[in-house]
Formats: sequence, C-alpha cells, structure tokens
Amino acid sequence: MRILIVEDDVDLSRQLSESLKDVGYAVDIANDGEEGHFLGDTEPYDAVVLDLGLPQIDGISILQKWRTDGRKFPVIILTARDQWSEKVAGFDAGADDYLTKPFHSEELLARLRALVRRAAGHTTDSIDIGTLHVDNRAARAFVDGMPIKLTSHEFRLLSYMAVHKGRVISRTELVEHIYDQDFDRDSNTIEVFVGRLRRKIGTDRIETVRGLGYRLMDPDQGSSEE
Ligand code: CA
Repeated sequence: MRILIVEDDVDLSRQLSESLKDVGYAVDIANDGEEGHFLGDTEPYDAVVLDLGLPQIDGISILQKWRTDGRKFPVIILTARDQWSEKVAGFDAGADDYLTKPFHSEELLARLRALVRRAAGHTTDSIDIGTLHVDNRAARAFVDGMPIKLTSHEFRLLSYMAVHKGRVISRTELVEHIYDQDFDRDSNTIEVFVGRLRRKIGTDRIETVRGLGYRLMDPDQGSSEE
C-alpha cells in the first residue's frame, strides 16, 4: 500500500512517514500544497493524509480539485484543535476521516487501516486465502499457522495482492502501489519479488496470467476465489 502525506511541518511529516514505513507502507511526502496536489493528481495512492493549513494551496482546495477530477482514494485530513468548521468543510470537500492535532501515530495508523480495508471491501485487517493468513495490522503472514519470514518489500507485495485477492493485478499496478516515488522502479524487479514470495508461501498460490499479471489465490479453490 502506498500513502501520500501532505504536511508542511517537516518534522511531523518525517515522523509520520517513518511510522508508516515501519508497518510496511510505501510513503511519499509533499511539504507544500502545490506538490501535494500534483502527486495526488498523478500517482495512484491507496490513501492520503492531508494537512489543511498548507503553503501555496490549502488542503480544502486540494481536496476539492482531486474530487472534481475524479480522484477516489480515501483522504484523512489533519485539523487544528477546536476547529469544528474545518472538519465540516473537509467532509464537504470529500474527506473520509479526520484527525485533530496533536495525535498519536497509533491512531493515524488505525484510521488508515480502516480506510484502506473499507475502500477494498474488507471488514478486518486480516485476510485469509486458503491456509495463507495475512495480518495487515501486525504486518505478518502465516501459512498453515506458521509465521513466514518476509522482507518489507515482500510483505508489501503480498499485502497488496491479499487485499485484492482473486483479481489479476498487472506489474505496473504492483510497481505503483508498493514502491515510493524515489524507488528505482523497474517492473522486472516485481518478477524477482514474486519469485521470492512464491518460494516462501508456496509456488501455486500466485498464478501468472500471461500478458496480464499475477493473481493471489487459494490453490485448493482454483481461480473461483473472489
Ligand atoms: Ca500546516
């Protein structure tokens, strides 16, 4: 999952980025409204954390532009304390949730998980694909109840495929959702990661759909898993 943080407080944005990366998200940061609007307009984020008071373009205007232009990713806005009118304006502009500053990063993480799983149509942070269990809260995976040792990139790949289980996902989509902007994106590396993941979780759980991409499925269910 790839998250955009738009926040002009450099210390706060860096701190948030670290806590998100620690639990397996790919993160891009924009420190002003113009860059924030541009990134949200051009990159397919799984969720956005948007401060409202920003240089160049304010958060409410950015959100309105995104929504007018059909950007559907979930957005959580960061508001000042006791500013109920900001929250109302934020929801009216298309926000999905809000957090009042100051907040604990644990709360932001919980709200982001809720937004991402809701957007994907799941009810919990844990996803089962046959005997493969993916826990997005703990950033861990299990096969037949046994924990699997995964690198953060391998977990990101598995987590994205699990959230979209049963669907064919192209290499491009995987690259866009598991790497941040600064990563050297080469879709060949996806094949390498898929290969490693297969060796760890079982070869037949990831189907290669020639010319289209990959599908995570329950090998005992065939491709009817949805
Ligand atoms: Ca601010």
